[in-house]
Amino acid sequence: MAAGRYLGIDLGGTKIEGVVLDERLAPRERVRVATERERGYEHIVGRVAEVVAALRPHAPDVTCVGIGTPGSVSSRDGTLKNSNTTCLNGRPLGVDLEKRLGMPVRLENDANCFALAEARGGAGQGHAMVFGVILGTGIGGGIVHRGVLWPGPQHIAGEWGHHRLEPDGPPCYCGQRGCVETILAGPALEAAYRAVSGEACPAAEIARRAAAGEAAAGSVMTTYLDRFGRALANVLTILDPDVVVLGGGLSNVEALYTAGREAVARYVFNDELRTPIVRNHLGDSAGVIGAALLTATNA
Ligand SMILES: [Zn+2]
Repeated sequence: MAAGRYLGIDLGGTKIEGVVLDERLAPRERVRVATERERGYEHIVGRVAEVVAALRPHAPDVTCVGIGTPGSVSSRDGTLKNSNTTCLNGRPLGVDLEKRLGMPVRLENDANCFALAEARGGAGQGHAMVFGVILGTGIGGGIVHRGVLWPGPQHIAGEWGHHRLEPDGPPCYCGQRGCVETILAGPALEAAYRAVSGEACPAAEIARRAAAGEAAAGSVMTTYLDRFGRALANVLTILDPDVVVLGGGLSNVEALYTAGREAVARYVFNDELRTPIVRNHLGDSAGVIGAALLTATNA
């Protein structure tokens, strides 16, 4: 059996997952450990090194490790910001991992990894420009053109989660108000439903209740889908991608592909909407597969 070709790590707040992919991008070996973020920065760097050490025998020829993580990498000094694993913020994670692992690493935001994985080996295959979208507890996005990730010189390409959709909307951690993330993320949908019904209910359940005809859930979802359409149409009118691939927990909401799509069509600068808006193919594995693909030439 040939050795693995790419090694990637998905560094999340609760778990660190590593994968070795073969030439055809199929996972050969996986390792998963708890992040134990409460034990601090140095510990997390050590945990990543443990996962790499466990995988290295399955990919002895790799010369670089790809790392995907929430937050954004500063183009100025390579430090991380906006990570929900807060002890990573302001730290030169890439540099420290390179020292610890003794080889180069390529660090990217997890939404960019998602987009890269779906473009190269998932629902975006065969499309020239892929806009990958994360709709979950946060809102992310990544752009891949002809199989190559486009993070942009400031590392903000595709970050539609911080387009200001409603200038008087809720405050966002980024310092603005009414960002797409404060309106379309799962917790925002849950808050909207709680305001109407007085009941705490997970986002996926709100969508189910709306589909089953519950009035409160129905009205909240109608507003949500309209705003989804407005926000995504803004992206489409700039980028005009060949496909939009949805990921994250909310990507399972069926109405996004019907009423949500109709809302995009209402707001896009065109008299029709030909852009496919599709569900991801790789599910939870997209992040770690995309991280491994960061090390592929021309990724
Ligand atoms: Zn924001």
